[in-house]
Amino acid sequence: MDTINKNNSKTIPHSRPTIGAEEAKAAAEVIESGRLAQGEVVGRFEAALSRMIGVKHAAATGSGTAALHLTLLAMDIGPGDEVVIPSYVCSALLNAVNHVGATPVLADVDPRTFNIDPDDVKNRLTGRTRALIVPHLFGLPSDMDALSRLGVPIIEDCAQSVGAAHRGEPAGSFGHAAVFSFYATKVMTTGEGGLVVSDSTGLIDRIKDLREYDNRDNYKIRYNYKMTDLQAAIGLCQLKRLPDFIKKRQAVARKYDREFEKIGIGLPVNDPGRIYFRYVVNLETPAEKWIKAVINQGVTCARPLYKPIHRYLGLQGYPVSERAWENSLSIPVYPALTDEQTDHVIHAVTTTAKGLIRE
Ligand SMILES: *Cc1c(COP(=O)(O)O)cnc(C)c1O
Repeated sequence: MDTINKNNSKTIPHSRPTIGAEEAKAAAEVIESGRLAQGEVVGRFEAALSRMIGVKHAAATGSGTAALHLTLLAMDIGPGDEVVIPSYVCSALLNAVNHVGATPVLADVDPRTFNIDPDDVKNRLTGRTRALIVPHLFGLPSDMDALSRLGVPIIEDCAQSVGAAHRGEPAGSFGHAAVFSFYATKVMTTGEGGLVVSDSTGLIDRIKDLREYDNRDNYKIRYNYKMTDLQAAIGLCQLKRLPDFIKKRQAVARKYDREFEKIGIGLPVNDPGRIYFRYVVNLETPAEKWIKAVINQGVTCARPLYKPIHRYLGLQGYPVSERAWENSLSIPVYPALTDEQTDHVIHAVTTTAKGLIRE
């Protein structure tokens, strides 16, 4: 039995971790060792990740949000500073910027890739801009060449793109720092968890100082943002399996591409470095209708993003994000899907398209 969390209902879930006996064994070893908190296994997980990304240092954290928060703090970003983030992304980025008291500045995204639009970023830079947080959304790397030319320090957000590549170079190797998330439904998981990588020794030292509060000679506000050895042991297993996870995601995506090309919906950009955290299609009609129609056929599709940031903040002027939120649909693509299930998904989406496009 590979997968512990058995899904008894017949409905195909939108996302699901691939985790099982190997991870259970690794976690059991940590429990038996009697050393559960941040320790030697976290160190090994950090070393493995930095080696994979090709960056000198790494610091593991309790979540992706904590990784972003600590990175901003370690870059000495705070009140009066501006940080540019995309409007079409989850609210974790907004939280991180607000945690340090800096001012979030939103930029719109590219209609094909859904990644932050370098031209729109350029229009929003000021003398106070201190950093740009660049997510590689849905597993597709952003245009790092154009973004790097803007001359602003970049924090890559690889929460959805561990193992992805931009022109053959690992996502996470371009920015001043890069953050990862290992939340349950991400490409690889530790339940909850996060990590920062950087070539800057000073940056990683500051993050390691800030992530724990005990045994210190001086006092300043520090956090409890550590990863545990229990999580890291699971993470090391997941990291070993990551190449297979990615191959499976890409294979499902190729199969969907072949079938969905026939039904006239906008396919996700096919880039060799893409890892398909999400398989997101562009529709001509509201995603809401599709979601309701496919669930009746036993498939859970979803908006790939709960709510874009400009909507939370009540801001106008983000037409591409607005349209992406209305009309994009995320179709199940995770490695635990069986061939039978992917056929079922194809049938459900194709049938829905015939009904809705004709409408
Ligand atoms: C999930 C996610 C985060 C936050 O990670 P958590 O581990 O949930 O805190 C940040 N950015 C992006 C793009 C994400 O997808």
